[in-house]
Amino acid sequence: MFELPEYTVMARQINKTLVGKKIKKGNLGNSPHKFVWYNRKPEEFTKLTHGKIVGRARVQGRWLIIPLEPGYNLVLGECGGRVLFHPAESDLPEKYHLWLEFEDGSSFTVTTQMWGAMELFEAGKEQERQYIKDMRTTPVERGFTYKYFSGLIDELLEGPKRSTKSLLTQDQLIPGLGNASAQDILFQARLLPRRALSELSPGQRRDLYDAIVHTVHEIIEQGGRNDETDLFGKPGGYVRLMDSVAAGKPCPECRTKIQKIQYLGGACYFCPKCQV
Ligand SMILES: [Zn+2]
Repeated sequence: MFELPEYTVMARQINKTLVGKKIKKGNLGNSPHKFVWYNRKPEEFTKLTHGKIVGRARVQGRWLIIPLEPGYNLVLGECGGRVLFHPAESDLPEKYHLWLEFEDGSSFTVTTQMWGAMELFEAGKEQERQYIKDMRTTPVERGFTYKYFSGLIDELLEGPKRSTKSLLTQDQLIPGLGNASAQDILFQARLLPRRALSELSPGQRRDLYDAIVHTVHEIIEQGGRNDETDLFGKPGGYVRLMDSVAAGKPCPECRTKIQKIQYLGGACYFCPKCQV
């Protein structure tokens, strides 16, 4: 699944490669898939996107917003899979869930593996969509300061008990993060996934904030995770410290065996010695 860093890399690549291209024909999928969320019928999508020009993409959490000007925004959200640019005369994937064919012969396709939204809104209306509306501050925004973060934890301490992993992966409390980046953030912060937020010392709270900001920027700088591909089908350069490959192997810091548990809807990988 793409997370905020991968979408950010993709938006930068779209802004270098696709901006200004004119759509010859916009198509929804050729392969039925019940977990792709569309908000337009295929004919309607083709009609509304005809002749539109690609504008500058931007990211909100795990949502990529691509203006199709004038008047519309294409929204890709919560996706995993492939989001690809195809130069003129290159082969397209056999299966796709969205295909924009440009007048210069190049193309853009999206093929999801699990699920994902591929929706076309009148520009601005996407802000009313569930999960985008009222989104909290994401870790790449200026407003994501330590003061903001600490205030968020104080707010959560008023509610039901939550762990560090819950903070990072549930209810879009910190939009854009997911199970993949959460593992490395917790390792960098030296905190266990089950550690209760109420048990964090002021120093640990600060370490967690620093680890979020550092990890997100590091993944972006390295062009995304190496288990996802970018707009050109190339894997990112960021190798995760704590993942299924690392499980059972020695911790990079202390050589203790890295453990795996199932917790909150996904696998967690951690060092039982470094992380407390
Ligand atoms: Zn360790």
